[in-house]
Amino acid sequence: MIVFENLSTNENIELQTGCTPWFQKIKIVDADAKTIYNKYLTPKKEYLGETSKIVYDFWKQLLSVLKEKPFSIETRRGKITAIPNHKQKLLLKYVGSCMLSSSDNSPGLVPKDSIEIGIDLMPAIKHPNLTTVMSNSGFPKQFQGDFRETGCHIIAKSCHRDHYPEPPCWFITLAAIELKTMQNVDEKHKKAYKVLKSLVIGEINYPGKCINLSSYMLKTALMFHVHGDKQCSSSHFGDCIENILSYLGSNFFNLKMPCFFARDMDTWGILFETPGFNWEFDRQLTVIGDKIGGGEVLFALLWIYFWYKSTEAAKSVLSEESCVNEHYSKITYRFELFKASVRVFLGEYYSSGKVWKVKLKRSRIRIHSMTSAEVNIGDGFPFYMQKLKEEYGMNEDII
Ligand SMILES: [Zn+2]
Ligand SMILES: [Zn+2]
Repeated sequence: MIVFENLSTNENIELQTGCTPWFQKIKIVDADAKTIYNKYLTPKKEYLGETSKIVYDFWKQLLSVLKEKPFSIETRRGKITAIPNHKQKLLLKYVGSCMLSSSDNSPGLVPKDSIEIGIDLMPAIKHPNLTTVMSNSGFPKQFQGDFRETGCHIIAKSCHRDHYPEPPCWFITLAAIELKTMQNVDEKHKKAYKVLKSLVIGEINYPGKCINLSSYMLKTALMFHVHGDKQCSSSHFGDCIENILSYLGSNFFNLKMPCFFARDMDTWGILFETPGFNWEFDRQLTVIGDKIGGGEVLFALLWIYFWYKSTEAAKSVLSEESCVNEHYSKITYRFELFKASVRVFLGEYYSSGKVWKVKLKRSRIRIHSMTSAEVNIGDGFPFYMQKLKEEYGMNEDII
């Protein structure tokens, strides 16, 4: 996070509640701050708006700085250089200067001569009033002490509702306390996290923001596993991994993934963002009566169902392997099979050239039953599967 210090004090801004307790509107009260951020103020010059313009200008500025003055750091074993690029990501390239010998390696780690590291940066304001955040019902009260130390931030991320000409909402991010919590996790769970991370690293992620098995989901699941209502009682990290995969699978299945520090909010946000597909079959579908919904709704659901099935598959691959001995290599080797399957699927998917991005309001994913009572997304997949079978003769094996 890149923090705007001059907006991070109670004297300069006044925060107002936005769409949900986790979104806020920022009223600038200080005259100097108003002058500095004039370009981004709403028409009446009171509120900080134009979130996407602020983010865009930030990356434009960073790119021009990097082009003008190349940035690199020498480390003990190599060099890290920033590569100017047009993506909204700080791209660093690490090139090792000496070969690693096999004795340097921890089991399961593979030496690499060079690696590209993408870093997400976000313009942010340090939240000046932590008490109001802690009083939100979704905040787990036992973390108040840690939260007073780390604080939290407000970032230029939209609530996906059009407030024009009203001031837009800014998002409260709890990234600082998430980081502290992850760093304090015990060794057993650090191991579990490393193995799980190897499951999702880079190659099986869909590019851009999209519902998938993301590393943020893993972190969230791990925090629930370690600090949730049901404390971990496993003696071996292999059991923890299985437990965490079960949790992730059931969350895909039930179409919900609560944030750890904002339990009334979903890590997937207000919208379901999934890939879309130019699927002849899906165009014929409608949202009338008792039917499944529009084609894009169906595709979004099947996309999430794919991740549920994948997580289950990873779990069953893992349970075939005895995890009694602490062999990372054995477990990660087993996961390769899973990763290869996902890569094949995604490869087919991209190469079809028929992909676009779908943003669905959660409220659209619903089905009217015969009694016209609304069936909520919280009911999960059995209902959708039943409807698919009835309406289109599909069965679960095909899906
Ligand atoms: Zn809003
Ligand atoms: Zn555990």
